Amino acid sequence: MKISELLAQDKITLSFEVFPPKKAERFEAVKTAAEDIAELHPSFMSITYGAGGSTAGFTAELAADLKKDTGVPVMPHLTCVGSSKEHTDRMIAQYRCENIENIMVLRGDMPASGEAETDFTHASDLIAYIKKQADLCIGGACYPEGHIESYNKNQDLRNLRTKVEAGCDFLTTQMFFDNNIFYNFLYRAREAGIRVPILPGIMPITNAKQLDRSVALSGTNVPERFRAIVDTFRDNPAAMKQAGIVYASEQIIDLIANGIKHIHVYSMNKPDVAKGIMDNLSEIIK
Ligand code: FAD
Repeated sequence: MKISELLAQDKITLSFEVFPPKKAERFEAVKTAAEDIAELHPSFMSITYGAGGSTAGFTAELAADLKKDTGVPVMPHLTCVGSSKEHTDRMIAQYRCENIENIMVLRGDMPASGEAETDFTHASDLIAYIKKQADLCIGGACYPEGHIESYNKNQDLRNLRTKVEAGCDFLTTQMFFDNNIFYNFLYRAREAGIRVPILPGIMPITNAKQLDRSVALSGTNVPERFRAIVDTFRDNPAAMKQAGIVYASEQIIDLIANGIKHIHVYSMNKPDVAKGIMDNLSEIIK
């Protein structure tokens, strides 16, 4: 099923994200975790693409297996970095054969080596290229706090509009820990003429190191309220995990209470975390 069709229904959707392994020997373990998450009946699952295209084969295989074995709609990611036109053509042909109807298209980041093949500069270039040759529902990324490389937020929004005009059917945000940042972004995006669905991306933080790493990579603002929680529980892993699941669940409940129907969760191959969130929302998203 196309995600655009799911998002057009008057129903709450909750989707989960998994990432493929870097090495073949980890594939079965990752697949088992992804299947456990699929058993929670998310609206769809997305499968990320390793930096520089390092996991191309595993992303495609995991997406195909999940669709075939669980029936959950899937959305493999693809990045400009690591993608020539020929590589893109091959991936799209494969997804067509497997009846995969959704793809998340990103620019990606250059690997540390600084070497990666690419025929596309911005995500919008790859989106336009794919849109011309395949009837896929295409997702793209957006940044409520501005992309880390962008000159300013208005320029970032103009670039985002170009991405949508290139053929992006919906957007998913980078993580944020303060919902007001999302509400403000949504307002500005609509003012800028961006009309496609925008899914807030919620990252349950279950250990303090994960927060430090995520913030260093994305520059995401950490509100005092959340900082206090992480500082209090950082040396107590079980308590930190519980607090992280509750904080993410509260963010989702607040979003739903403010009229946001479609939410994406960065579940990071953790079925217990995904289940904790589902349990906390069981009556709300029934
Ligand atoms: P773009 O849309 O190309 O934007 C990148 C920068 O270029 C921005 O500053 C933008 O303002 C600017 N820009 C865009 N278009 C133009 C233009 N036409 N002219 C001038 N400037 C322009 N990375 C992975 O490697 N694998 C993944 O699976 C993955 N999944 C992600 C999923 C989500 C939901 C998000 C939010 C991010 C994901 N990323 C992933 C990270 C992403 O690849 C990086 O954040 C990357 O730096 C930007 O990707 P983008 O698609 O937003 O790029």
